[in-house]
Amino acid sequence: MRVWSRFEWQQQSRLLDERERLRRQLAKLRTAATSRGGYEPHHVNDDEATIQADAIKSRLAAVDEALERIDSGSYGRCVMCGSQIAEEGLEALPAVALCRICVV
Ligand SMILES: [Zn+2]
Repeated sequence: MRVWSRFEWQQQSRLLDERERLRRQLAKLRTAATSRGGYEPHHVNDDEATIQADAIKSRLAAVDEALERIDSGSYGRCVMCGSQIAEEGLEALPAVALCRICVV
């Protein structure tokens, strides 16, 4: 089994915290939508709550993917070009998947 670096452990715990926070936000949004009368998750419209929920869901997906990259040992590498992402970037945004060049 691969030994995780201290940095990977640190980033994993930050990602798990982030995931919890996003899940709570999503649950809160759903509760608010239901109390306003009906929430249709599959119906795409320009409802503010739907847009917010979608944004949270895509961030959750990014967090899950980052956690998988820690597991597989590819965390910290750009998913596009494979180059090392700067640690400052990863610390600012643990779920970041692209290097500075690929992100633009
Ligand atoms: Zn790249």
